[in-house]
Amino acid sequence: MTQKKLNVKKGDTVIITSGKDKGKKGKIMTALPEEGRVIVEGVNVVKKHTKPTQKVMQGGIVSKEAPVSCSNVMLVCNRCGKPSRIGKKVLEDGQRVRVCKKCDEVVDK
Ligand SMILES: [Zn+2]
Repeated sequence: MTQKKLNVKKGDTVIITSGKDKGKKGKIMTALPEEGRVIVEGVNVVKKHTKPTQKVMQGGIVSKEAPVSCSNVMLVCNRCGKPSRIGKKVLEDGQRVRVCKKCDEVVDK
């Protein structure tokens, strides 16, 4: 199985770079590496109509975030607060981490 490499992962704060939610910031709730997509809190919210079931007696409208392509998001650096290009760095102990190319802050903790 080949997995697409995502530059972002769960818990990252990202900014949306295209589409109707352009400019919105949010936290990644779920990463879908197989699809190259991520679900971002409060972004690309779609309303779904649900039918009453035995579990949920009342049908209604549920708001839910739909996945967005990871090419449409950019990581926001915790330190400089800017959408950043991500670089890779290998630490002294051999651990690979992502770093902000703007301020050199290690993104992975
Ligand atoms: Zn930075």
